[in-house]
Amino acid sequence: MPNKPWLQHYPAEVPPTIDYPNQNLAQFLVDSAARYPNQVALEFMGKKVTYRSLLDSANRFANALLRLGVRKGDRVAVMLPNVPQTVIAYYGTLLMGGIVVMTNPLYMPRELEHQLSDSGARIIVTLDQLLERVKKTTDKVPLDHILVTSIQDYLPFPKNILYGLKQRKDGKAVTVQYGGGVLSFTEFLKQSPATPVDVKVDANEDLALVQYTGGTTGLAKGVMLTHANLVANTIQNRMWFYKAETGKETMLAALPFFHVFGLTVVLNQSVYLAGKMILLPRFEIKQVLQMINKKKPTTFSGAPTMYVAVINHPDIDKVDLSSINVCISGAAPLPHHVQERFEELSGGKLIEGYGLTEASPVTHANNIWEKRKSGSIGIPFPDTEARIVQPGTLEDMNPGEIGELAVRGPQVMKGYWNRPEETAKVLKDGWLLTGDLGKMDEDGFFYIMDRQKDMIIAGGYNIYPREVEEVLFEHPDVEEAAVAGIMDAYRGETVKAYIVLKKGASPDPDALKSFCKERLAAYKVPKVYEFRETLPKTLAGKVLRRKLIEEDMDKLTDQ
Ligand code: AMP
Repeated sequence: MPNKPWLQHYPAEVPPTIDYPNQNLAQFLVDSAARYPNQVALEFMGKKVTYRSLLDSANRFANALLRLGVRKGDRVAVMLPNVPQTVIAYYGTLLMGGIVVMTNPLYMPRELEHQLSDSGARIIVTLDQLLERVKKTTDKVPLDHILVTSIQDYLPFPKNILYGLKQRKDGKAVTVQYGGGVLSFTEFLKQSPATPVDVKVDANEDLALVQYTGGTTGLAKGVMLTHANLVANTIQNRMWFYKAETGKETMLAALPFFHVFGLTVVLNQSVYLAGKMILLPRFEIKQVLQMINKKKPTTFSGAPTMYVAVINHPDIDKVDLSSINVCISGAAPLPHHVQERFEELSGGKLIEGYGLTEASPVTHANNIWEKRKSGSIGIPFPDTEARIVQPGTLEDMNPGEIGELAVRGPQVMKGYWNRPEETAKVLKDGWLLTGDLGKMDEDGFFYIMDRQKDMIIAGGYNIYPREVEEVLFEHPDVEEAAVAGIMDAYRGETVKAYIVLKKGASPDPDALKSFCKERLAAYKVPKVYEFRETLPKTLAGKVLRRKLIEEDMDKLTDQ
């Protein structure tokens, strides 16, 4: 078997290795603004922002940070949904050498406090609606400033800036710059010049992001991603989408930018391609379909649950999806029938890829226009190596055998922020141990079975929830399915299915059981079925299996 069997499947247009520029990640914006100043970069609630104006605002933001005393290497937290201010704060911070800490707007004070103290952020940019939550943390975190904006900050609302001071326990005051209307954020920017900031960034050493991950179990860890990591992953993505045209793409930005998938595959990618981004502050299916009809996006990358929502919408026949050329689905397994139906409806391609925050995030994807394998995450990206190893070690397994996926490449993180021991557990000789169980076939295509921690062990058998979910998804009454292991006195664990039915279908556990029995070994067939209205998900669209299990445990202890 060749050393890197996947290389035989590379289309002629995709180079197996790339020369990456040693530059600030924000240079993509500087370049696009120079080449396409009048091209629309962002569209939000009917308002358009051109590349020239986006760079101008980002430069003002960079200067404003300097004026507030923020310096190169300082952390700037951005707790916003997908609105223009997010993009401005992100690039503005990068342009002055600051480190962006993207923060989930759904965080409650406890989670926020952990992230702010762990990262040591000096300033946070947030929404007026979230201010109370942020204020609850100020006693315990090292913040110096809170900059508040509102969703309508880009609409012509009257100017209204308030400066407030909040006293911290150590006697220091935290300034709160509050704008009740749009112009406040704009006004804040106007106080500083749009001249570029002179800062030297060493792309291989300096961090662009401290990106928090792993918060669903235990406390979240900050992943250190350098400018070089993110520049590389943006270019790797672009090379993969080799038919994409600079200056001509329109991206529907439904993936949240506080997740690195949305940041790299949508935001960085769009700015690198001088594309137009249609910003959606949250995934609301009716609005997504309206935007597709009206704005004709050429790409709409997302998580599988987003495509599930699209194909099952009762009015889908009235939506014209034909503008969509190609989408990358990631974050979770893409069920085969979802891929097929979405492609049938759009006439474009829906490609499964794979990644994780620790790799900026993408490491694998299926070929877009040539050979692909459904159910596979595809093949490694340019300059990316992958192996299947004995869990926890670097001993290679044979093709077809299940082990832990390890990856190496220019997109792999520098380590975890302030956690050298945790870093040493997952980074070995440049190889990142992903914690995902998978296999590689003889052809060099990779498959993810599951997270190591999600594997169910029932009566001594290993069961991968994903395999069972795939079968459930094939049932005509099932809209969504998640499978998890619950405690069982006899088998240790037993398989439970959580089902969301399609509209009009009625719950019938026996029918589902026999459907599974025809398609799976008996030990994998779910023994317990729960029918639900929805499944708990992260904003990035990942089903929270752990949450389902925790809810079950809570029910048991309540009894
Ligand atoms: P995050 O760090 O939040 O991006 O989560 C990364 C994790 O998402 C990976 O370690 C995988 O467990 C999971 N993941 C991402 N893409 C896929 C995929 N295509 N199939 C299955 N799991 C995936």
